[in-house]
Amino acid sequence: MKHYEWVMHSPEETMSLARKLGEKLEAGSVITLEGDLGAGKTTFTKGLAKGLGIEKTINSPTFTIVKEYKGRLPLYHMDVYRLEDEMEDLGFDEYFEGDGVTVIEWAHLIEAQLPKERLNIYLFHHGDHQRRLVMEPVGKRYEQLCKEILET
Ligand code: ADP
Ligand code: MG
Repeated sequence: MKHYEWVMHSPEETMSLARKLGEKLEAGSVITLEGDLGAGKTTFTKGLAKGLGIEKTINSPTFTIVKEYKGRLPLYHMDVYRLEDEMEDLGFDEYFEGDGVTVIEWAHLIEAQLPKERLNIYLFHHGDHQRRLVMEPVGKRYEQLCKEILET
């Protein structure tokens, strides 16, 4: 599968790329974030939220599974790390198909419930302040999005 790679040299750089993405997202977009603890999934989400015009501070939704924020489009920020049963249906489809943008940390834990078309993002530790970031678009819409980000 086609993928795009970057090395991010600071949290600010990660947020800035995420912000660019956030500015281009449309309703019904689904983004998965994978990576170890501290890899930068929540940091990436903070930048993405800025790009959606969200002013509230984004915190990890560890105990709630889903947090909603109002912006140019609503953001549904999920962290499914603590979900006990991977098939438990918390009405995910309504988020995925809704009028907002869904970002899912640890998304592979609900793999079977994810839409096929989505933007998969992987973050890897790469020294103390660097992270390798890989984007894997699945579907035309997300391929186009990645190309636009590369051009800006
Ligand atoms: P996760 O949600 O994946 O557990 P967080 O975003 O909560 O990770 O934490 C990432 C931590 O790593 C933050 O403390 C952040 O400041 C730090 N960090 C250091 N370098 C980077 C980088 N290049 N990109 C993102 N985060 C970084
Ligand atoms: Mg997190």
